Amino acid sequence: MSDITTQNPYTNKVIDTYQKFSDAKVKNVLKTAKQTFNTWKLESIDARAKLLDKVANTLHQNIEKYSLLITNEMGKPISESRAEIEKCMFLCDFYRENAEDLLADEIIKTEATESFISYDPLGTKLAVMPWNYPFWQVMRFAIPTLTAGNTALLKHASNVSGCALIIEDIFIKSGYPKGCFQTLLVDHNQIESIIEDESIKAVSLTGSEKAGKNIAEIAGKHLKKTVLELGGNNSCIVLNDANLDKYLDVMVKARMQNTGQSCIAAKRFIVVESIYEEFVERFTTHVKELKSGDPLDNDTTIGVLAREDLADILEEQIEQSVTSGAKVFFGNFRNKAYYQPTVLVNVKPGMPAFDEETFGPVAAIIKAKNNDEAYEMASNSRFGLGTMVFTEDIDSAIKNISKIEDGAYFINEMVKSDPRLPFGGTKASGYGRELSREGIMEFVNKKTVYIN
Ligand code: NDP
Repeated sequence: MSDITTQNPYTNKVIDTYQKFSDAKVKNVLKTAKQTFNTWKLESIDARAKLLDKVANTLHQNIEKYSLLITNEMGKPISESRAEIEKCMFLCDFYRENAEDLLADEIIKTEATESFISYDPLGTKLAVMPWNYPFWQVMRFAIPTLTAGNTALLKHASNVSGCALIIEDIFIKSGYPKGCFQTLLVDHNQIESIIEDESIKAVSLTGSEKAGKNIAEIAGKHLKKTVLELGGNNSCIVLNDANLDKYLDVMVKARMQNTGQSCIAAKRFIVVESIYEEFVERFTTHVKELKSGDPLDNDTTIGVLAREDLADILEEQIEQSVTSGAKVFFGNFRNKAYYQPTVLVNVKPGMPAFDEETFGPVAAIIKAKNNDEAYEMASNSRFGLGTMVFTEDIDSAIKNISKIEDGAYFINEMVKSDPRLPFGGTKASGYGRELSREGIMEFVNKKTVYIN
């Protein structure tokens, strides 16, 4: 069994080495998860929800330690790591306050004396998670899953194995019974034997389309339900009446947050002709103000990509787009895992910068003749996570809701996740929803109870 070595993408220093779990160890973990489920599912919703206060407290007390680990393992600016931990605390608060209502029996009037839906836990769920938000992506799966009475297993991205183990520790520290949440340090080729195990009832994956297809295929073969949150190629439509004074900062953040490594980032800026030149100039001025540097410095806003190979992919996508006629308006310097914030203009369908997900700080700017063409171009994508539009004509933006085929449509705001709102995609961005009521309902047995 080979080892997993984690490496700081900014300093290139090795952080730690972990031994992968043997098949026998994995079997033991699965057995523990199943045994724990049998008692955990009998706890009241209130008792399970109360533990969320402790999780929030553990996160709060260790925010510096956890943020440092995130930044060291995947290179995001430390201020963003802290914000990620704070968001996890907000998530705990949301399900702490609402779990009992969300999971309460739902009475349905029929000719029966009583009939209702009982929202019961299903069993053990496997999460296959990515490195871009190493705490948030896991917590938004785990918090509703555990609160609904399931047990959870995590196969995290190998470059954030330290985060994977510390998240398990958070649940232990917060008083969850042993076996409620366990981390598996495993390889891809061990995933099938985990999914096929009788104790696993469902799988949730956030990651690339390729990983999603593989997981869906395996889960389908074994008749296990999946939720897939895959890549995105979100458009940011900028109409001629967009309030640039007010929203340019938001638009820059929509692309550059997390050093551009977000599935819901604005990747394609589709700008109508009449405002195009002004937008390009002013957007670039804001991009120039971003501060690249040591991710551990408090004022750094652009870190490094999580791995050097991710910068290779991005560089190739930009090179191919430029060969096809796109122009670098600003930036495009690269050094190992660092990719300078970049503005690309003259981008058109058929170029990687338009057609593919670009996972880094590169904004592709596209000119549209008018509003109709802007909306059409936004929908011209294999992906369907979200679209944002900036305009002062809210009524007209509302009329276009039905034109958007994505899982989200944000008007005068960047697409973002919020524990109170459902999150997920359509088309190649996957299916199923996380967060809110929709998220906690994904993996429960909606049991019909009929009393004559
Ligand atoms: P991956 O999709 O490869 O990694 C995400 C998770 O899936 C990791 O836990 C990984 O494990 C696992 N995984 C990878 N391949 C398989 C597979 N064939 N079967 C089962 N599980 C698998 O992302 P990458 O790190 O390679 O990033 C590549 C691209 O994916 C990015 O450039 C971006 O476009 C997209 N992506 C999207 C994310 C999102 O938020 N939707 C997040 C991350 C990436 P391991 O680490 O062991 O390989």
